[in-house]
Amino acid sequence: REPALQMADTGMLAIDGLGKRFGKLQALQDVSLSVREGEVFAITGPSGAGKTTLARLISGLERPDAGGLTLGGRPFGTLPAQARRVAHMFESYALYPTLTVAQNVASPLAAPASAGRWTAAQQRQRVDEVLALTEIAHLRDRLPSQLSGGQKQRVALCRALAQDPSVFVLDEPIGHLDAKLRHLLRGEIRRRQSQLRPGTLWLTPDGIEAMAVSHRMAVLIGGRIQQIGTPDEVFARPANVQVARLIGDPAMNVLSVALAQGTSPSLAPDGGAPQAVSGALAQRLAPMARGGRLVLGLRPGDLALRPPGTALLEGEDSFAAQVYAVEPLGKHRIVTLSVGSQRLRAKVAADAGWQAQQPVQVVVRGERLLSFDADSGVLQG
Ligand code: ATP
Repeated sequence: REPALQMADTGMLAIDGLGKRFGKLQALQDVSLSVREGEVFAITGPSGAGKTTLARLISGLERPDAGGLTLGGRPFGTLPAQARRVAHMFESYALYPTLTVAQNVASPLAAPASAGRWTAAQQRQRVDEVLALTEIAHLRDRLPSQLSGGQKQRVALCRALAQDPSVFVLDEPIGHLDAKLRHLLRGEIRRRQSQLRPGTLWLTPDGIEAMAVSHRMAVLIGGRIQQIGTPDEVFARPANVQVARLIGDPAMNVLSVALAQGTSPSLAPDGGAPQAVSGALAQRLAPMARGGRLVLGLRPGDLALRPPGTALLEGEDSFAAQVYAVEPLGKHRIVTLSVGSQRLRAKVAADAGWQAQQPVQVVVRGERLLSFDADSGVLQG
C-alpha cells in the first residue's frame, strides 16, 4: 500500500493531550479535542495562542513533545507529513514562487503521495473548478509575486480545496478577503464537507468568524484550551473572563465591582465612586460577591439605555453611568459608557439620540447578567 493510504480515509480526528515546547516557551499544553466527520471545528484565540503550532502538529510539520493523534481510531502522529492526507492551508500561504497559480493549486494533486489518485484530466478539472469558484481563473498563469495579498490567499485556499483529504486544516483562510467572497467560500467549504465528509479545523483569531463557520469551537489562550462548545454555548456562557473578552461584536463587557456598604445599595466599580443601582440588582449581586467583590459580564446587545429615573419593568435591573462616546454603525449605535474609571459598550438602536456626557440609566434583564469569580475569573452559577 502507498504510505498515503495508511491513514484511514475518514473518521473522527482525535487530538489527545498534545504538548509542544519551544525552548522555555510552552506553546501548547495538554490540548485535547475531537473533530467529527463532516464537522467544521473552529479554534479561536489571540495572536500567539498556539493555533499555527497546532496546525503544524496535525499536518506533521512539527513533532509533539506529548500526546497523540488518531483518525478513525488509528494513530497517525508518527507518519511523515507527506503520508498524511491533511490539506493544510497556511496562514503564510506558502506558495511556490516559481510555479504559476495553476501549478501551485495542482501541486498536491501531482505529488508522489497522490500518485494514481487522479488522472491528468481530473487534476485539470479540479484546478479549473476551484479557480473559477474563487474568481481567480484569469490569474492562472501568473506567478505568486504578481498577485495581491488577497489573491495569494485565494490561491492557497484553492490548493487546499482541490484536494480530497481526510482532514482540512485551514489557518486563517479568509482573513484578507472581502465580505462577498468570505461568504461564498464559507458556503463552499461547507458544501465540500457535506460531500466528502472530512473534518475541518478552522483557525482564526476572529471570534465572530469562528462562531459563523463552525459547528463547534474551542477557545485557545496561552497554549491551553479554555472552552469547547457550540458557538451558542460559548457565546451564552463563556467559561471565564478571558473567553468573555474575546467573543462577541463588540465583545462582552467585563466590569469589576465592589459592593459598597451604605444606606442605599450601590456598586463601586473598580473601587471607585459608588454608582446607584436598583435594589433588585444589589440583592442579586450580594450572594455572588466574595469579600464584596465580583466581576460582572454584560453583553453589549443586552444593555438598554434610558434617562435616569425611568421606572424599571418587571425583571429589569439597572445602574447609573455616563455616555462617553457614540459610534454610528448603520442601524445600530455603539455607545461607550463610563462607570467610574471603567468603560462599557452598549449596542443600541440608531434612533436613540444619546450624546456624550449625558447621564444614563443602564438597564439589563437580571437573567442576562453573568458573574465571574473576582479572583479566578471563572464563570459562576
Ligand atoms: P497568530 O494568530 O499570530 O498566527 P498563533 O496562535 O498561530 O498566532 P503560534 O504561531 O502557534 O500562535 O505561536 C505560539 C507561540 O509559539 C508564540 O509565542 C510563538 O512565538 C511561539 N513559536 C511558534 N513557533 C516557534 C518556533 N519554531 N520557535 C520558537 N517559538 C515558536
